[in-house]
Amino acid sequence: MTVEIQRRGLMLVLSSPSGAGKTTLSRGLLANDPDVVMSVSATTRAPRPGEVNGKDYCFTGVEEFLRMVQQDAFLEHAVVFGNHYGTPKKPVFEALAAGRDVLFDIDWQGTQQLRQQARDDVVSIFVLPPARGELERRLKGRAEDPADVIAKRMAKADGEISHWAEYDYVIVNDDVAKAQAQVDVILKAERLKRERQPGLFGFVEGLMRGE
Ligand code: ADP
Ligand code: 5GP
Repeated sequence: MTVEIQRRGLMLVLSSPSGAGKTTLSRGLLANDPDVVMSVSATTRAPRPGEVNGKDYCFTGVEEFLRMVQQDAFLEHAVVFGNHYGTPKKPVFEALAAGRDVLFDIDWQGTQQLRQQARDDVVSIFVLPPARGELERRLKGRAEDPADVIAKRMAKADGEISHWAEYDYVIVNDDVAKAQAQVDVILKAERLKRERQPGLFGFVEGLMRGE
């Protein structure tokens, strides 16, 4: 006999210095788990080769981005590496209402804002690289950014890493399969928290009535 307890969707945040592996881990999670949907951010940064508008990001001009800020269309927004990034509200609320979990690849500024708005629904994970030299190797190996952009991202790594202790969980991405398994287990355990399972009230009442 299988029992389905109605549960409440959660907001899973992955943050890290650029190149530590957030995108890789997010893709793995989305491929493994049909209940997770990705929050697609808006950004004023130029698309990288292979990035698809509406899938990787919604690429917008600065004027349009600022208009969306005025219209209160973002759940959070911040300037990162000189570009604007923001999380559109509507798709997040729609996904949560449909009982799905929403995955966010956002920086520490966005995580703080999200936590202020919805503390009980946010689960945050910080991803650390195994070593500094490896972070640089990954950024170069990704071969998607010009050398000056990579240097800028390396220079900002310490600033991002300094926020590690604000997160609920911290994982070291030395091995992708291991880190992926750690993300999966965090999500599974967080889903089982009592307060994320509103359906338990009715279920337990039924048990007490002898059903
Ligand atoms: P982020 O989204 O945090 O900027 P990515 O997921 O794009 O980082 O990863 C940066 C690069 O490092 C990519 O080329 C990715 O394939 C590679 N990578 C990610 N995790 C690992 C790992 N554990 N070991 C080796 N390479 C990795
Ligand atoms: P990238 O340009 O490499 O895709 O992302 C650069 C940084 O911006 C990463 O740290 C990423 O997590 C962050 N980022 C992406 N989207 C958002 C967003 O919507 N809000 C915030 N605050 N940060 C974001």
